[in-house]
Amino acid sequence: MNVNQSAPSALPYGQPQPVYPGYQSSYGGQPGSTVPPTPYEASYNGPLPGYQQAPPPGVSRAPPPSGAPAPSTAQASGGQATYGQFGQGDVQNGPSSTVQMQRHPGSQLFGSAPVLSQPAVVQPYGPPPTSSQVSAQLAGMRISGATASAPSHSGLGYGSPTSGSFPNSGLYGSYPQGQVPPLSLAQGHPGAQPPQRSAPPQASSFTPPASGGPRMPSMTGPLLPGQGFGGPSMSQPNHVSSPPPQALPPGSQMTGPPGPPPSMHSSQPGYQLQQNGSFGSVRGPQPNYGSPYPGAPTFGSQPGPPQSLPPKRLDPDAIPSPIQVIEDDRNNRGSEPFVTGARGQVPPLVTTNFQVKDQGNASPRYIRCTSYNIPCTSDMAKQAQVPLAAIIKPLARLPPEEASPYVVDHGESGPLRCNRCKAYMCPFMQFIEGGRRFQCCFCSCINDVPPQYFQHLDHTGKRVDAYDRPELSLGSYEFLATVDYCKNNKFPSPPAFIFMIDVSYNAIRSGLVRLLCEELKSLLDFLPREGSAEESAIRVGFVTYNKVLHFYNVKSSLAQPQMMVVSDVADMFVPLLDGFLVNVNESRTVITSLLDQIPEMFADTRETETVFAPVIQAGMEALKAAECAGKLFLFHTSLPIAEAPGKLKNRDDRKLINTDKEKTLFQPQTSAYQTLAKECVAQGCCVDLFLFPNQYVDVATLSVVPQLTGGSVYKYACFQVENDQERFLSDLCRDVQKVVGFDAVMRVRTSTGIRAVDFFGAFYMSNTTDVELAGLDVDKTVTVEFKHDDRLNEESGALLQCALLYTSCAGQRRLRIHNLALNCCTQLADLYRNCETDTLINYMAKFAYRGVLSSPVKTVRDTLITQCAQILACYRKNCASPSSAGQLILPECMKLLPVYLNCVLKSDVLQPGAEVTTDDRAYVRQLVTSMDVAETNVFFYPRLLPLTKSPIENTTEPPAVRASEERLSSGDIYLLENGLNLFLWVGASVQQGVVQNLFNVSSFSHITSGLSVLPVLDNPLSKKVRGLIDNLRMQRSRYMKLIVVKQEDKLEMLFKHFLVEDKSLSGGASYVDFLCHMHKEIRQLLS
Ligand SMILES: [Zn+2]
Repeated sequence: MNVNQSAPSALPYGQPQPVYPGYQSSYGGQPGSTVPPTPYEASYNGPLPGYQQAPPPGVSRAPPPSGAPAPSTAQASGGQATYGQFGQGDVQNGPSSTVQMQRHPGSQLFGSAPVLSQPAVVQPYGPPPTSSQVSAQLAGMRISGATASAPSHSGLGYGSPTSGSFPNSGLYGSYPQGQVPPLSLAQGHPGAQPPQRSAPPQASSFTPPASGGPRMPSMTGPLLPGQGFGGPSMSQPNHVSSPPPQALPPGSQMTGPPGPPPSMHSSQPGYQLQQNGSFGSVRGPQPNYGSPYPGAPTFGSQPGPPQSLPPKRLDPDAIPSPIQVIEDDRNNRGSEPFVTGARGQVPPLVTTNFQVKDQGNASPRYIRCTSYNIPCTSDMAKQAQVPLAAIIKPLARLPPEEASPYVVDHGESGPLRCNRCKAYMCPFMQFIEGGRRFQCCFCSCINDVPPQYFQHLDHTGKRVDAYDRPELSLGSYEFLATVDYCKNNKFPSPPAFIFMIDVSYNAIRSGLVRLLCEELKSLLDFLPREGSAEESAIRVGFVTYNKVLHFYNVKSSLAQPQMMVVSDVADMFVPLLDGFLVNVNESRTVITSLLDQIPEMFADTRETETVFAPVIQAGMEALKAAECAGKLFLFHTSLPIAEAPGKLKNRDDRKLINTDKEKTLFQPQTSAYQTLAKECVAQGCCVDLFLFPNQYVDVATLSVVPQLTGGSVYKYACFQVENDQERFLSDLCRDVQKVVGFDAVMRVRTSTGIRAVDFFGAFYMSNTTDVELAGLDVDKTVTVEFKHDDRLNEESGALLQCALLYTSCAGQRRLRIHNLALNCCTQLADLYRNCETDTLINYMAKFAYRGVLSSPVKTVRDTLITQCAQILACYRKNCASPSSAGQLILPECMKLLPVYLNCVLKSDVLQPGAEVTTDDRAYVRQLVTSMDVAETNVFFYPRLLPLTKSPIENTTEPPAVRASEERLSSGDIYLLENGLNLFLWVGASVQQGVVQNLFNVSSFSHITSGLSVLPVLDNPLSKKVRGLIDNLRMQRSRYMKLIVVKQEDKLEMLFKHFLVEDKSLSGGASYVDFLCHMHKEIRQLLS
């Protein structure tokens, strides 16, 4: 195999393969683990077939003439009855010798295992450095304090920042390659070449270090951009032949056999972490590498002289680049629709724009998995340590060109289900006996087909009406639920929204109350509506509070609203039923009058104390009295210290950071809120909390109810109308208008062999299987982890079915079903080839963020590192070709795992900087818990966009650059966003014309630091930048407030916090250092 034989770039995935013979017959392994019935069981007799809507445009429902799906190879494979959507193309786990699809062409190695070989440390060799070069380099090196004191175990950069160890400040302009990177422990080779990112991966060769002997030209590993280092040029991938012997740098302690490339480390003290035990005489000859990575030498198998190793720089361009991976995926997969027909297809990355065609599996917008190929046995899974998880966003918003799930109405009989496991009818169910019965694909139970659902089968065994029924041909669809699926066997009333406004002193003084009341007047016209309904069915109610609660009667027949005060907050009750929850249009005059009066009524308040739990209690009781589900919108400013249930005390204590008690900062200080949340869930009462704190408010405790009820928390610290109104109002509008499913229960069923064992997200669980959500909005995800409970089968694969029972915003009870079929493998390489790193990181971050509730943060971090090392070591051991231990080999699909994991490790929750408050950490912790994959991706690795590099006419989003200070040019302007924050960084030597056009001031020094709004100027640059900002904001679920940061300004420290490839002020490792550390961990596991 050689590098140039890599898979065609156009088809990185889904290489057509012969059918999956036998797929159809293998469903349903053992009956065995049957799933207990849901609380809402429905009989399935006598359904009326048919669904409400016409087939979607663009989705063909008509069976192809042959009765088989499109270009089906199914029948060719032996005339077996085949499932329509399956058994054709795109089966991914072919024989290992074939070229497999993978994210990047050109990436595979031995046995088709995509291997990314990387030098772990440094070694930009190409043409071996001459001694003089090396000397020059050494002379220019700086050994950072952190390096010198590098702890032997905790790894690089994990300690607290050593002062002076990383001049993170103001070293702009020092970007040239040869320069010592301020934050890097490792040093750059002076001769390092500029990035060669543009080189197509195929052409690049990753010459792994040789272990000598004849080896397969395994170097098919994609060369990382820039890996060349003068090494084999991009066009000479396979350097199996001997390159010139490498010169040893002066001072090198290498004693290895001929050939080990020079170690840059050798004489560099302080780099022992990476090098430990490296200089191996053990390594085989390395002659074959003129390659970029003769890096091997550094990692020998014998302990080296640790203390004497110099820091060395691993060239940042030589390590896997998130930007490159994102770009490649966009180029390779962005142009063609992702068709979900085949089992186990890895979807395009979340950063790629692509269209989805549902042909039997749920769109990746609804479900993404950590791997689309699951090990057949639990032993394999344990060995690999790759978490098997699905990130499910059941009500995800779809782009306009993709149809919402069809609603199927089976009439009084309700949806058709398996008698035993209660799985819903889906494309994977197999009809037998001429269509009179069907075998459940989840539990294998044979069920009778009710007479009214009967249909004949075609010669392939497929129902002839398969394409006319969403539940037989699509991955996602909805069923109208019958009364059996409703609480108390009664169809629900439409939900209600209750606005509960803090009117204490701070809320009034900041202008919040006035702003909010004014906004609500118009916002109430935009409550969620069902489909094309003219008006929203949602009723609204209003409460204001400080130490006491004020309820308002806004009945349409009243001339003026009436206030009722409840001061007995210990025993909350709702003083009125009639007139509290009203239709907006009917009561508009009264509501408007109320909203006008509220700011005036409390204008002179002196009350600073607030209650909190009684407010939620009141809202919940009101919904209970009205017998409906709903949502509370709480606008709250302070720690609730007034005497009342749920009263809190200030227990913030930063001294607990890095102690075993740090976890208490994340735990609620009283269990009262959990109890309250449970009652809310039972009532279908979801709580969205808008916080406006001027100081510590104990977000960890206040967010318990929102978190357990599927709600959201928004936080606007030190809120001031003039600075923050745009952000708040934008979030509020979006939040109020969001489509929400109320009073929901979600269940994930799986085929025999695996089962859902763990769940993460904003919800409540009272048993081990049902995820209860008082509310579930379009942005929320539920993460589900799976474990084996039996052996899986390669032929039958593994199936997931997520069923969400909910009440729509019009009060209709529905079931939304998402189905997904995954492949199963007996070769670990197949697992590694079908992983999704973004999804893995999403899972791992959530796992870690939950872990801090119960374990010391350091333990959580160590666990993540160990797991990552195990994942990569397992790959190295079982899937990669044998090669020098000095070489870091990463699976192609996981080559970004280290960089992303490092971002998680150094995030505020796991490694807070001095400026991060306890509330910030608790806030972010709960936010991440229900983020989808796209959100965690940009949150942990922000997007950094250069603004003046591309032609001004080009208004499309410019290609991002890596999040590192080195990538900033002082002559340019950059936008940085992570989904929550948005910065505009202005270099000190930006052209004056640019400054004028963007800021309307004459020079850089006149730009106001911290500016949050760009002037609206009529010139192309101003329009372009403002357009880009608008565009970025539209992509995110929360409004990102802009902060203009000038180079070398104080605010820049804040900005640099987001340059995640660099070492952080809080001691977080740079990417380069972390990669080295990870390599060391892997080597330890392998030795
Ligand atoms: Zn079943």
